[in-house]
Amino acid sequence: MRSELYIDGQWVKPAKGGTCEVINPATEEVIHRIAAATAEDVDLAVKAARRAFDRDGWPKLTGARRAGYLRAIADGIRARQAEIARLEVLDNGKPFPEADWDVADAAGCFDFYAGLAEQLDNNPEEAIALPDARFTSKAVREPIGVAGAIIPWNYPLLMAAWKVAPALAAGCTVVLKPAELTSLTALELAAVADEAGLPAGVLNIVTGAGSIAGQAIIDHRQVDKLAFTGSGPVGSKIMAAAARDIKRVSLELGGKSPFVVFEDADIDKAVEWIMFGIFWNQGQVCSATSRVLVHEAIYGRLLERLVEETNRIKIGNGLDEGTLLGPLVSKRQYDQVVAAIEGARKAGATVACGGTRPEGIDRGFYLRPTVLTDVPLDSDAWKEEIFGPVVCVRSFKTEEEAVNLANDSRFGLAAAVMSKDDARAERVAAAFRAGIVWINCSQPTFTEAPWGGYKESGIGRELGRWGLDNYLETKQITRFASEDPW
Ligand code: NAD
Repeated sequence: MRSELYIDGQWVKPAKGGTCEVINPATEEVIHRIAAATAEDVDLAVKAARRAFDRDGWPKLTGARRAGYLRAIADGIRARQAEIARLEVLDNGKPFPEADWDVADAAGCFDFYAGLAEQLDNNPEEAIALPDARFTSKAVREPIGVAGAIIPWNYPLLMAAWKVAPALAAGCTVVLKPAELTSLTALELAAVADEAGLPAGVLNIVTGAGSIAGQAIIDHRQVDKLAFTGSGPVGSKIMAAAARDIKRVSLELGGKSPFVVFEDADIDKAVEWIMFGIFWNQGQVCSATSRVLVHEAIYGRLLERLVEETNRIKIGNGLDEGTLLGPLVSKRQYDQVVAAIEGARKAGATVACGGTRPEGIDRGFYLRPTVLTDVPLDSDAWKEEIFGPVVCVRSFKTEEEAVNLANDSRFGLAAAVMSKDDARAERVAAAFRAGIVWINCSQPTFTEAPWGGYKESGIGRELGRWGLDNYLETKQITRFASEDPW
């Protein structure tokens, strides 16, 4: 396990020598300490990223050369997949197969953006048709500059990949701050990049508190672009900081995503997707389908099956074979989720199952997966992101009512619909006010497809070619191409 900062191609101790504890959420033990960066360290990291961008030529390399580094990083991640996945489990708590999946996905993300970096060479410019024949014009894409990337703890390595891979592919250099709760695999990413021979300063990793290291990144005048995934309140701070010196900004924030199940859906399949949509990663997923709307004709049967299957989920240490639900990431997160369930109960909701610690487990931040019914529409449990294994289930009578309930939220990250009637599913998909819509499933995420939210769920899109656009400026070059004077 690494503990230092990675700045300008070197492993360095933080200027003030501070550290943060690394706690294994499955045992509550302190298993390591990582560096707590302060503004001095962030300044060194930003200056290294600036030099790599302005002087050392990272943006001037061909896309194919940058792609070579990205592929080497992808290979380096895969070469240590099991080791990195194990670290992720120790740090975050998620079941090993999920961590293993994330690590493979992170490697795939670097491969994907290697392909897009190569395509930048093939399409360096776009001719613009002008109405005045004396002029010719073209648009070229150029990297924005130094990107400050700040990421949460729910998908530690994967969120790093979602930001670092497109930024490097575009020709930006990066200062990345992982969440203080889960920094171990981002440090491994730095080690992999170092072994891949990535030039010094192109990728810098500073660990530490959001209010100190994160704040120093967003306040730094030499950072050109901020890319953030995390909570709404911090997203607002980031946008305000970006507004001050007109930094480019992309935000991926929370959600309270609906899942509408019509009466013609297969109940067993619906239950499987509902559980995948809310219990994967202990429900600590920004796109988790945490509000389930079920047609009244199948509501009773579906709820019964859902409770039955939810009670069967094997809870335990993510490193144990067969574990389907690990601990929540931290004591704070556990307390918040328990308080949200308590709040729901007080507001009149019924706890159909879960809501308590699993019996027989007295250490670790474990919580039984929870199904809530009768949740009042004006309660926090219905309206606010809980970010834990807690789903609210409610019945509806008509398609119009379902769509209205689904869209009645300040969030708009994801939404899902299940029906055998394709026309109806397409109609509802079109009516959802959300950036990601799933039909007859929930959560499958592809590096190729755009990811991001409507409304308070964020600004901009990650992944796919849209993710690359986050790190590119567009320049027009117009030439006076006539012999005639004005
Ligand atoms: P957070 O928004 O506080 O933290 C996310 C990242 O931002 C971390 O790296 C953190 O260190 C950093 N940060 C915090 N304050 C900062 C500041 N002033 N300037 C710059 N960076 C700062 O999220 P959290 O504490 O990890 O979780 C709180 C809640 O956020 C959760 O309960 C959940 O509801 C939500 N959340 C959402 C997502 C998502 O993917 N949408 C992910 C994690 C958490």
